[in-house]
Amino acid sequence: MKRAIFPGTFDPFTIGHYSIVQRGLTFFDEIVIGIGLNQSKKTLFTIDKRLEMIQQAFKDEPRVKVASYNSLTVDFALSVQADFVLRGLRSVGDFEYERTVADANRKLTGIETVILLTESEYSYISSTVARDLISYGKDISAFLPPNVKL
Ligand code: ADP
Repeated sequence: MKRAIFPGTFDPFTIGHYSIVQRGLTFFDEIVIGIGLNQSKKTLFTIDKRLEMIQQAFKDEPRVKVASYNSLTVDFALSVQADFVLRGLRSVGDFEYERTVADANRKLTGIETVILLTESEYSYISSTVARDLISYGKDISAFLPPNVKL
């Protein structure tokens, strides 16, 4: 059984995140989406709302689970018996950070990170832009996975 975690803040969970998970399911048996609770990061959406949005997005996909965690990402991976971390890469800007974290995680625990390049039509989609649009009262339904409403 190949199990991966897909960690992130998901404030909110976007169609870009959704696409990475769907593509991950073509080679992982199960993906646990982990919402990292970073105390220093102020979020727009509550943890309950983020959990609900992700559950809604994957309500017909039993191979996707969702949980929140308050620990190091690799400790969360070990706690759910996952051997892989799945991440998405939008741009070279994301690369150095992802490489450093992936190296540290592998040295600490042997957990491998699998990074998928974003589909080009989603490369401009980010939680930050979604939050900016919301703050100006704009509709962000095009940023959200199918079946998900705010
Ligand atoms: P973090 O705070 O860990 O960066 P995010 O919620 O911003 O959490 O992102 C979680 C993961 O999803 C990261 O690997 C990020 O690169 C990836 N991601 C974010 N937006 C997109 C997108 N539009 N397409 C593909 N992957 C994305």
